[in-house]
Amino acid sequence: MDYPGNLFVVSAPSGTGKSSLVKALLEIDSRLQVSVSHTTRKPRGQEEHGREYWFTSKEEFQAMIERGDFFEHAEVHGNCYGTSRQAIEERIKGGEDVVLEIDWQGALQIKKIFPNAILIFILPPSYEELLQRLNRRGEDSPEVIELRMSNARIEVAQAQFFDFVVVNALFETALFDLKTIVHAQRLKYSAQRRNKSAVFKALDLL
Ligand code: 5GP
Repeated sequence: MDYPGNLFVVSAPSGTGKSSLVKALLEIDSRLQVSVSHTTRKPRGQEEHGREYWFTSKEEFQAMIERGDFFEHAEVHGNCYGTSRQAIEERIKGGEDVVLEIDWQGALQIKKIFPNAILIFILPPSYEELLQRLNRRGEDSPEVIELRMSNARIEVAQAQFFDFVVVNALFETALFDLKTIVHAQRLKYSAQRRNKSAVFKALDLL
């Protein structure tokens, strides 16, 4: 499937700073929209239904799978997560740029459906730093942190299948890298032909 809007897919092991980076990117780029996923996980802290996630029962999630409502879905750290067709299809068809913040399994499924999707993997600078960040975040029990750390090794090994890699050692540098990737996509020939049609016409390129 090929649509005029860009589909950016950002994946990273938990604790890498992916959510903060995507949040900051959305704040400085009003042309980007985030896709809200469905999950069977319970809301954490200040999370709101429809803002961070659509919090869904296991039964409803299963019904959505059977109806074919998801482009992709995966089990991550024991909970189910999925990207609904509704969350992205109309937007990218309409030429909007959408960001998906999903795990690597979902990212690879999306790439099969949308070969033009831009897959970005965010790496932590080291496993030691990742562990420190998870401890500092204080959101998870030691058992959960241990599970996330062992999953992190499997996740990091998937970075090779992504189009771009950003190392989040310094937040501002990583944000700049993300902005650069988004900007470069918008300079591609097909995008420029659409966005700068007057110039292309004047140059007999249309
Ligand atoms: P958390 O529970 O910490 O919000 O998210 C856990 C993991 O699930 C993160 O890696 C997050 O990116 C991933 N995730 C969130 N939404 C989706 C989704 O719709 N599909 C997939 N495959 N993963 C998701």
